[in-house]
Amino acid sequence: MNNCLFCKIVKGEIPTEILAENDLALAFRDIDPKAPTHILIIPKIHIESTLELDDSNSKSLLAMTQLANIISKQEGIDEKGYRWVVNTGKDGGQTVFHLHLHLLGGRSLNWPPG
Ligand code: 5GP
Ligand code: ZN
Repeated sequence: MNNCLFCKIVKGEIPTEILAENDLALAFRDIDPKAPTHILIIPKIHIESTLELDDSNSKSLLAMTQLANIISKQEGIDEKGYRWVVNTGKDGGQTVFHLHLHLLGGRSLNWPPG
């Protein structure tokens, strides 16, 4: 995808501090944090949303979840707890159309979300 913001971060075209990565995924802080810890975990390949997940790219999703677990420990939020959020489409609140998992923690989070 030529004009995808997160593909540009993967390619290093937008300077971003990478917190952790593995072969298929990488993690960086959200530019507009909604909690003391707010990290985005993305696949290195362009996957538009959860709607595109299937057998062909399931390894990317697994890599994202493994990275999220490493980072929750790195950030010291693993014992108190945290939330994974993946927004899909307009009603889901998705604004960047490159799959990303929000890892939110460091405070008590409300339920249900807005
Ligand atoms: P969505 O609303 O699609 O679920 O989440 C997109 C997230 O990307 C938002 O939380 C937004 O703050 C974050 N974001 C948008 N542009 C940038 C950017 O250039 N750098 C970083 N680090 N985060 C961004
Ligand atoms: Zn992309």
